[in-house]
Amino acid sequence: MAAPSLPFLPFALPEIGEDDIAEVVDTLRSGWVTTGPKAKRFEADFQAWLGDAGDNAEGLHCIAVNSATAGLHLALEAIGIGPGDEVITTTHTFTATAEVVRYLGADVKLVDIDPATLNIDPAGVEAAITPQTKAIIPVHYAGLAADMPAIGAIARKHGLKVVEDAAHALPTTSAGRRVGTLDSDATVFSFYANKTITTGEGGMLVTRDAALAKRARVMRLHGMSRDAFDRFTATVPSWYYEIVAPGFKYNLTDIAAALGIHQLKKAHAFAARRAAIAARYNAAFADLPVITAPVAPAGELHPWHLYVLRLLPAAGIARDAFIERLFALGIGCSVHYIPLHLQPYWRDRYALRADDFPASQQAYEQMLSLPVYSRMTDADTQRVIAAVRGLLAPA
Ligand SMILES: *Cc1c(COP(=O)(O)O)cnc(C)c1O
Repeated sequence: MAAPSLPFLPFALPEIGEDDIAEVVDTLRSGWVTTGPKAKRFEADFQAWLGDAGDNAEGLHCIAVNSATAGLHLALEAIGIGPGDEVITTTHTFTATAEVVRYLGADVKLVDIDPATLNIDPAGVEAAITPQTKAIIPVHYAGLAADMPAIGAIARKHGLKVVEDAAHALPTTSAGRRVGTLDSDATVFSFYANKTITTGEGGMLVTRDAALAKRARVMRLHGMSRDAFDRFTATVPSWYYEIVAPGFKYNLTDIAAALGIHQLKKAHAFAARRAAIAARYNAAFADLPVITAPVAPAGELHPWHLYVLRLLPAAGIARDAFIERLFALGIGCSVHYIPLHLQPYWRDRYALRADDFPASQQAYEQMLSLPVYSRMTDADTQRVIAAVRGLLAPA
């Protein structure tokens, strides 16, 4: 008799609690649904949260935006990236990291990863620098910190700006310091539906540079000298504003910020739950013909946005077939990411070849992302382990 089939285990699910829901309802009843008091509170809470383990969060400007993509665009615009400039980033990322460079008419130099961490290879960064290079965008892939001491040293030596794509990195530490409080020019977090905390869509741009922050705040809302909430709450007639630049529409709504306020309080608990699942996976897969997910050095925070498993040739099954077998067993998986050097736009624009990115290419061919999220039960985790072992362990 066939075993009763279990419901499909999705690759990702957000964890939305009654506290999140109550805050959204409160916002809906308040009469103010776009950017206003809740977005301001979320920004203030975010700064406090970045300093919650004693890291220096003083002087940080936190600017809520409607996506991380928007935050990256605003950061590069404020830095002054434009036509003729080059920005270096990793090929092993989502297209958002690189597309913002093209929004500004500048060019992208993609570099390979360190296969041990799947993060951008600092030696590759240094080799890609030309007189046109203006900035580096490291990505903390899966939530594991990129080699920020090395990247920071390269940036200082060559006079380059650093904008961290921290879409996966909440909370992450690098050499004991919280990502968001490091020495970069700006850091951008994502609150997209499947990220470590969510506002549905949303992001946070964090910087210590007051001029960068000022420019980003103006460009976040149409290039207006005063935002709508300031005008609405003024105690004198306050219809006047000035347009100082052709800005964007990148503000975060109070409905989304309401979610963020409560999600943020649970960020450490969510991360701890995902870390426990990842630890179980790494232990359960240690004897298999795989490369288990890279772990952070002892004492560092890694929020496990992704759990990336790589199948070695000895596994005797290719990645695509493996994903299909897991799917047939009712388990959702994904691949993060099809590297940019394989995507038609990036490949054709810069005449990129897979041979130029051997580490990313090999990882791509071998890797899949397993479900790792706080709503998974121990039974869900065990089910994934049993399915993976069933397909890979010698009988
Ligand atoms: C999700 C993601 C982004 C974009 O985030 P949005 O908030 O959806 O704009 C950027 N970079 C990386 C690495 C991501 O995973």
